[in-house]
Amino acid sequence: MKAAIFEYARADSVAQACSLLAEYGADAKLIAGGQSLVPMMAMRLARPAWLIDVNRIAELKSSRRDGADWVTGAALRQADVERDGEAARAVPLIRQGLYWVGHVQTKNRGTVGGSLVQADPAAELPLVAQTLGARFVLRRTAGERTVSASEFFQAPMMTATEPDECLAEVRWPVWQGERIGSAFDELSIRHGDYAIVAACAQVEVDSAGRCVRAVLGIGGAAAVPVSVEAIARSLQGTQLEDAAIDAAVESIGQYLDPGSDVHATAEYRVHLARVLAARVLRQARANAAGGGRGSRA
Ligand SMILES: Cc1cc2nc3c(=O)[nH]c(=O)nc-3n(C[C@H](O)[C@H](O)[C@H](O)COP(=O)(O)OP(=O)(O)OC[C@H]3O[C@@H](n4cnc5c(N)ncnc54)[C@H](O)[C@@H]3O)c2cc1C
Repeated sequence: MKAAIFEYARADSVAQACSLLAEYGADAKLIAGGQSLVPMMAMRLARPAWLIDVNRIAELKSSRRDGADWVTGAALRQADVERDGEAARAVPLIRQGLYWVGHVQTKNRGTVGGSLVQADPAAELPLVAQTLGARFVLRRTAGERTVSASEFFQAPMMTATEPDECLAEVRWPVWQGERIGSAFDELSIRHGDYAIVAACAQVEVDSAGRCVRAVLGIGGAAAVPVSVEAIARSLQGTQLEDAAIDAAVESIGQYLDPGSDVHATAEYRVHLARVLAARVLRQARANAAGGGRGSRA
């Protein structure tokens, strides 16, 4: 099918995008890479009367360190962020997650902000953002607000972004330390498909190999990505030995609420979550012990 008729406006600044959103109201939608919105329009699942293009807004393409955060502008292309060595050193999980997203072609167009606002429960970047506790800077004509990842992701394909707001940037916490490791893994039908279940973890160990900090997240097994804080906390003070990891992830099902579909039953998704959680924790431990911050998987 073809999209319903719409009008098009290109914004040159965030202020202009916000003013157009305020003017056209719920009939308008921002368009970034178009990799989710255009197919939805073609299937008539979305019928915006106005498309407001944010692709040429320079202030949405900033990539920088700011205090304890790595900041990515919402309109940065996923491929550019994946290739950015400085970003990968600061927050390796972003690159590790992007490895699994779609294809070279979709990443050349798709943006960081588009993926986060799209908020597919099985998408990789929302999972990384939820796991690390990223913060989202939302702008509208009347001002700006910052929301945490736990407030931002509300339901499948639904975020805290109001119809007159533009996601301007995402602030990813940078962990300081010598022995930090992270890992991302998922199972999908084919590489480039959305995950059936995805998992990511980041740990910090001390010179004796003891875990001083850990985060663990699961995607595709609830309405929004889940940061499994209780399990991550229970690993603090351990050597992250295999037995400790296996015991910790045993109860993971109680923090998830997966559905069943043609690809997998809810029970199988919980099983996958347990297996992938243990795998990323082991890989993150190995990366931390090696003094590196992360590898692809
Ligand atoms: C074949 C294929 C495979 C894919 N596989 C995966 C995959 O494995 N994993 C995955 O995560 N994704 C996958 N995707 C989706 C892809 O990552 C998209 O790029 C992403 O979901 C949307 O980003 P976009 O920039 O294209 O946004 P658009 O499609 O332009 O917009 C998506 C939504 O975000 C809103 N939006 C965009 N920018 C802003 C902003 N700055 N402020 C407020 N709202 C905004 C739009 O209004 C729209 O509602 C795939 C897509 C395709 C076509």
